Amino acid sequence: MASIRQPIVSVLGHVDHGKTTLLDRIRGTGVAGREAGGITQHIGATEVPLAAILEMCGDLVKGRTFRIPGLLFIDTPGHVAFSTLRARGGALADLAVLVIDINEGFRPQTIESLNILRRYKTPFVVAANKIDMVPGWRKHQGQPFVRSYQDQPESAREELDRRMYELVGRLFEHGFSADRYDRIEDFTTNLAVIPVSAKFGEGVPDLLLTLIGLAQRFLEEQLATAEGPAVGTILEVKEDKGLGITLDAIIYQGTLSKGDTIVFGTAGKPGTTKVKALLKPKPLDEIRDPQERFDSMKSVSAAAGVKIVGAGSRRRSRAPRFARRKAISPPSSKRSRRSPRSTSRRRTKGSS
Ligand code: GDP
Repeated sequence: MASIRQPIVSVLGHVDHGKTTLLDRIRGTGVAGREAGGITQHIGATEVPLAAILEMCGDLVKGRTFRIPGLLFIDTPGHVAFSTLRARGGALADLAVLVIDINEGFRPQTIESLNILRRYKTPFVVAANKIDMVPGWRKHQGQPFVRSYQDQPESAREELDRRMYELVGRLFEHGFSADRYDRIEDFTTNLAVIPVSAKFGEGVPDLLLTLIGLAQRFLEEQLATAEGPAVGTILEVKEDKGLGITLDAIIYQGTLSKGDTIVFGTAGKPGTTKVKALLKPKPLDEIRDPQERFDSMKSVSAAAGVKIVGAGSRRRSRAPRFARRKAISPPSSKRSRRSPRSTSRRRTKGSS
């Protein structure tokens, strides 16, 4: 029977508008939210389970129920990562967060990001960031925005509203009818803007809840994942100390198990390899001790980020190690090692 996987969420926006800080904040909430089935670190991604979001949101949830199990944030921010992380002709991300500094407004990469989101038809929300810098704003660490807004001096509220409506005006010029999220009745025709402070965590509960709500309303069909062969995208190919060549991948469909054979695109013919090991980072481990970095798993199911250790290409099984590397290297040798690439994989044998 099909189950519903977490939507894969990408964070993009202009440089310095707070993408990294927002992702760090989301990861950081995991430490506090652990008891509530807290955040878990994947390879290249961070999973925020529904339980953690509900706990963060408190009475903001108002008895609503959700079937979406959580959110999987891609850890690499930026529109370059977004546009290269393609799968099935579209974007890997099911949802996106466009971060805009509310004090700076639109910048060139804001517009580029909007164009990318439009091109891939990716549903997204706007995080209007750095509200703590609005003159007179009282900080409410980790609190929902709608609560904090009530507790602001009149002048700070007016200033925030003024900046918000400037942003809404600019979005309108670019073809998007937008409004503050808590004033929207119809999310099919209006783009939600969530005021946040990534630095102090304010508004982050509202942001996560809006993403879960949107996924539930509009993406349930897309997120249905049946049991079966895994399909995913390789984020990075690298040489890991003690492991050899590994593939960091996001699995967005099915289940990948140890012993499966995977097929992946290369500059030349497709490559294949048997999965020798599947690794995920140890919880909360900051990767200080190289021996203790990973936990080994028998299988992983979508959506998940995982490090795949291959047993070598079948085509080149007798080739020396450097030749194997060539088979799975990104097409251009000049390409940055951090640059993600797109491919798909499937389990061709050894299904369990
Ligand atoms: P990125 O380039 O979009 O990833 O931006 P960063 O996350 O690196 O943030 C750029 C700068 O803005 C850093 O100095 C952050 O500390 C700061 N910053 C990010 N979010 C906030 C925020 O909510 N409030 C304030 N006051 N500063 C922030």
